[in-house]
Amino acid sequence: MAKYIFSSLINCGICNDKKYKGICERGHNKYICQNYQYKNCIRNILIEDDLLKFFKIYCNKNNIEFNPTPLLAQQHIEKIIALENSCFEVYYRNGDMQYCKENGIKFV
Ligand SMILES: [Zn+2]
Repeated sequence: MAKYIFSSLINCGICNDKKYKGICERGHNKYICQNYQYKNCIRNILIEDDLLKFFKIYCNKNNIEFNPTPLLAQQHIEKIIALENSCFEVYYRNGDMQYCKENGIKFV
């Protein structure tokens, strides 16, 4: 996968400063705070496959064809907040919210 699907959508909820950027480690797309390279934030990784899993659940629930691209993500996701321990919150433009905590999923 050449493109990072969730680029520009992930805000750091730890330093509340920078966005997360895409990195590729061992063939897997991941995201990390841009402040980490300056030692101003912790190494907290979000894995793209985890985010895709949540996005797929949302798409199925709303009868949206799941064909993940950066454009589809931007059309439906308002923002993602990255939290400690690789947890995150996803805020959708239709008001839906998903909360990932320790591999659990919760819709609000
Ligand atoms: Zn940060």
